[in-house]
Amino acid sequence: MTLSDTTTDTAGPDAADPRARRLRAALGNRVVLPGDDDWDLARMPWNLAVDQRPVAVARPENAEEVVDVVRAAAAAGLRVAPQSTGHAAAALADTGFADTVVISLARLRGVTVDPVARTARVLGGSQWNDVLEAAAPHGLTAPHGSAGDVGVAGYSLSGGLSFYARTHGLAVNFVRAVQIVTADGALVRASAEENRDLFWAVRGGSGAFGVVVSLEMDLLPYADVYAGMLLWDAARASEVARAWATWTTTAPDSATTTLRILNLPPLPELPPFLSGRSVVVIDGAVLGTDEGAAAVLAPLRALAPEIDTFGRIPAAGLVAVHMDPPQPTPAVTGHAVVDELPEDAVAAFLRAGSDPRLFMMELRHVGGAVARPVDAGGAVSAFRGEYICHAVAVVPVPDAAAGAGAAVGAAVALFEPWHIDALALTFVDGGNVDRRGGYGDAAGRLGELKRRFDPGDMFSAAHPVN
Ligand SMILES: Cc1cc2nc3c(=O)[nH]c(=O)nc-3n(C[C@H](O)[C@H](O)[C@H](O)COP(=O)(O)OP(=O)(O)OC[C@H]3O[C@@H](n4cnc5c(N)ncnc54)[C@H](O)[C@@H]3O)c2cc1C
Repeated sequence: MTLSDTTTDTAGPDAADPRARRLRAALGNRVVLPGDDDWDLARMPWNLAVDQRPVAVARPENAEEVVDVVRAAAAAGLRVAPQSTGHAAAALADTGFADTVVISLARLRGVTVDPVARTARVLGGSQWNDVLEAAAPHGLTAPHGSAGDVGVAGYSLSGGLSFYARTHGLAVNFVRAVQIVTADGALVRASAEENRDLFWAVRGGSGAFGVVVSLEMDLLPYADVYAGMLLWDAARASEVARAWATWTTTAPDSATTTLRILNLPPLPELPPFLSGRSVVVIDGAVLGTDEGAAAVLAPLRALAPEIDTFGRIPAAGLVAVHMDPPQPTPAVTGHAVVDELPEDAVAAFLRAGSDPRLFMMELRHVGGAVARPVDAGGAVSAFRGEYICHAVAVVPVPDAAAGAGAAVGAAVALFEPWHIDALALTFVDGGNVDRRGGYGDAAGRLGELKRRFDPGDMFSAAHPVN
């Protein structure tokens, strides 16, 4: 799939736009404009279903160049949207790309690990694979999510849910400092000691407060982890889903798992035993000893899965357990957060998962440390709820977008009776969902700080603050 497969409109903003010309004059070839040879490549996000057409895309290679771009955009009267990978491009598209320069941080990658302090300094466009590669030789790992090519800044600063989360909480609480370019074009450090209001705000408010050129974060002291997946044919979905739902009510915080129904297309790149099949999968990690983890998983293993890969693996291998797509993919997603999974909610999950238009219907077990606010945390340090009900449809061609959106909407609506007023911000990807549910009680102070640090609303973000 290439971007041109999904593109329906080739006109785009006018390269002769005087604001674009001002940017070119200020930044030269560090900015890509409509009509440039590499325009389509530069504007392509990870989520290929999103045809983003900003006024320009800037590709800075260091912090000073980020400062230059922010100042040039301000002088040209343009908004600025930081983007590392475009995994959340559909969320950003809710805000729109008019009058906006996308700052792609894709060239600002690199990680330095301090093995004694067990911390990492991560450049603003780095991806989780970069951190894992740098941390693993020191017997350390990180609170990454289920895909290694997700950006550290975008994920961490909007919460960040890992397979360590029920023990260690959200990734945002691992952030110790950020270096950030603010709306006035200043490069500042924000931490518990410096620019404390900004540090509070960016930990949740993310790209709405500036462009993060690097962040410092704690690492986790695990060289290896007990992790893997259990797989059954979808014919067993009812039995497995009911067992998992019951099991999660007493599972210890050391276990963070998901339950999914996957409707896999008949693709040659899939192993033959999976291609074209519907399967039910439980995956995740259980912290502790092999014996302890095996005891925790015993009730699930008693269901005799067709495949059981759970065992001790190098911690860096955890990023592959969920089998997320390894390349940019066009997709539509939606989610609801619920407190409980009574029999009818399990039935709703099974019904949603049987819709062949959905690639995946997932329940992520949260709660535990995910739901416990952290005293020294920022605007987002936890979210309420026990399960995320997450629907994903792939959009192979643009004409499939409406059907995919309808399928995701219908799946999420099935959970309406149990849906609580909470959101996992990193799981909000489009659909004009009101982000205030993700900010909870912090929304008021966050809005005040947005008006203080970005009075002209210069920064456009996947999760707007207002
Ligand atoms: C395949 C897949 C798997 C995923 N797995 C998980 C998971 O396991 N757990 C989970 O919690 N989430 C998961 N997500 C969601 C993911 O965490 C969010 O989409 C997140 O926003 C992606 O961050 P990004 O930087 O890669 O995306 P981008 O789209 O590049 O950025 C998203 C937003 O983050 C902000 N941002 C990014 N970089 C910067 C920066 N340097 N400075 C300032 N702001 C910045 C901006 O506001 C931007 O709009 C997954 C998403 C996908 C598509």
